[in-house]
Amino acid sequence: MSVFQVHVFTCRTDNFGVLVHHPASGATASIDAPEEAPILEALAAKRWDLTHILTTHHHPDHVEANLALKRRYHAQIYGPVAERAKIPGLDHPVGDGDRFEFAGEAVEVIETPGHTAGHICYHFPEHGLLFAADTLFALGCGRLFERPASDMWVSLQKLMALPDDTEVYFGHEYTLSNARFAVTVDPDNEALLARFEEIESLRAQGRMTVPTTIGVEKETNPFLRPHDAGIRAVLEMEDASDAEVFAEIRRRKDNF
Ligand SMILES: [Zn+2]
Repeated sequence: MSVFQVHVFTCRTDNFGVLVHHPASGATASIDAPEEAPILEALAAKRWDLTHILTTHHHPDHVEANLALKRRYHAQIYGPVAERAKIPGLDHPVGDGDRFEFAGEAVEVIETPGHTAGHICYHFPEHGLLFAADTLFALGCGRLFERPASDMWVSLQKLMALPDDTEVYFGHEYTLSNARFAVTVDPDNEALLARFEEIESLRAQGRMTVPTTIGVEKETNPFLRPHDAGIRAVLEMEDASDAEVFAEIRRRKDNF
């Protein structure tokens, strides 16, 4: 059993709130701070006190409650050094390869430019946890607002190199619409078709699709599969590079 408890809940419309709690010390981190009220409710329901905020990128739906939560709890805020001017209340700017301790456990920073120029993911290597926010979604990846597809492809490969059983927590409940797109570019992938059914049934019951794992994503997420012969045949891109195929999948999703 992990030394951490992870609690996920909905914020705004489709953002996830994520709290990571270390019972032995009482330390509790919020991964991003999308909205104050649901985070306060979640903390109260669990009887946890917030000690840290781990910010992934500067978008308002990820930092809106930083200052309010910092005032109330004196939480220490970590965030991307490349976006330091845009992260409210930032105490500890961190960048690629940086390591720090949360509740005495190692946290490794993985810079994943693409969705934003400075987006970072938080990896807990001893506990197989990855907080990927808007870089990697279940069956999807973040939209490219600040960096080209070629940069995002490099970023996603860093996450693909993590162990297959790494649990991935992501920023938005977009999984059903991602699944509808995924089957258009990878229609013969049995693992994807089975997962699509599971996701439809989860969402029909109002349940969340988080977390996923690196292994499941490598089998079913088309954005991690530009090397796949079936996808390349559908796209008629047999001779293209992986980066080119990835860019085409991203372009099609933007227009889906
Ligand atoms: Zn974002």
